[in-house]
Amino acid sequence: MQYYDTIILGGGAAAFSAAIYSARYQMTTLLIHEEFGGETSSAGPIENYPGFKKIDGFELMQNMEEQAKALGVTMVSGKAELTENIHHCFQVRVGKELFEGKTLIIAVGMERRKMGLPNEDALKGKGIHYCVTCDGPVFKKKVVAIVGGGDSAVKGANQLADVAEKVYMIVREKDLHRAEPINFEQLKKKVNVHVLYETEVRELVGEKKLKSIQLSKSINGSVTVDLHALFVAIGAIPRSSIPHELGVAMNDRSEIIVDRMMKTSVDGVFAAGDITDATGGFKQIVTAAAQGALAATSAYHDVGTHAANVCNLHAVPIVMPAHDIIKT
Ligand SMILES: Cc1cc2nc3c(=O)[nH]c(=O)nc-3n(C[C@H](O)[C@H](O)[C@H](O)COP(=O)(O)OP(=O)(O)OC[C@H]3O[C@@H](n4cnc5c(N)ncnc54)[C@H](O)[C@@H]3O)c2cc1C
Repeated sequence: MQYYDTIILGGGAAAFSAAIYSARYQMTTLLIHEEFGGETSSAGPIENYPGFKKIDGFELMQNMEEQAKALGVTMVSGKAELTENIHHCFQVRVGKELFEGKTLIIAVGMERRKMGLPNEDALKGKGIHYCVTCDGPVFKKKVVAIVGGGDSAVKGANQLADVAEKVYMIVREKDLHRAEPINFEQLKKKVNVHVLYETEVRELVGEKKLKSIQLSKSINGSVTVDLHALFVAIGAIPRSSIPHELGVAMNDRSEIIVDRMMKTSVDGVFAAGDITDATGGFKQIVTAAAQGALAATSAYHDVGTHAANVCNLHAVPIVMPAHDIIKT
């Protein structure tokens, strides 16, 4: 068993920011990440993170990792599973390794929402894709579509337009009001993007790979559109299994309910980033990083007050002062 002042679950902006602050508070810090960099690493060019006019998301995350490493943060790659919460001591397993923390920071983010169509899973990676930055470049000069009406979908359509010959953007709503105005302005200039409002994907056609999709509305007299790829950008849902196991209070959207200092309903457990309800529906790298800093600060105060002695009881041998020993 390895012991830490704080264990941070996650590998995105919230987790790395928490790790940087935690290490600077001189706490022994373990960061466990399943996929390095989280959503930011595949978000493409980032133009709204202060300090960088434009930076690739993966590079931004590498910078954060480098900073955390230089401060002495221990990093372990793998899926973290919670084993126990014994009076404010949090045991976490990664494969065969077991770790214990006096405090726990949950920054596991959200997972991409699926369309829920019958052969969606079977066609994943075979024409159905969830990451434009990762898979978009493969479809150079091809006909592709992206489904979604939020800012991520608009950013994705802009990226695809620079690679593909034609991009259909399938939007359930009647407008793109949820997109950042600057991204929407860029979209309007892309002549090869055809936005289909108030339209839904009804069916995915293809066995070994995607051949076409069936829409709820016809375009040019047909509901069938032949495609090389369909990118899905319809939002995400919080990864709620660990908070659920811990008994952490969540709202009806499965976001962790936190106070202004990122405390959850469970003593010694803090949360940061997209998994929380802290900023309403507004979930960005800058808000995740800010929440990570707050969560680490709360963990530091927690370790300094009651967590320090409690969790160490079974980590270090207990030497009782002579006058406390009761002779029988
Ligand atoms: C396509 C797209 C474009 C975007 N563009 C922008 C943009 O331009 N600007 C902006 O500010 N924001 C943008 N965002 C939003 C931004 O990426 C997120 O707000 C941000 O990544 C949230 O960070 P996070 O650390 O909370 O979560 P995430 O980045 O989702 O990281 C969660 C991490 O937790 C890890 N994890 C999950 N479960 C476990 C487990 N059991 N054990 C260990 N690790 C686990 C994951 O592997 C991952 O590393 C974009 C998002 C998308 C999808």
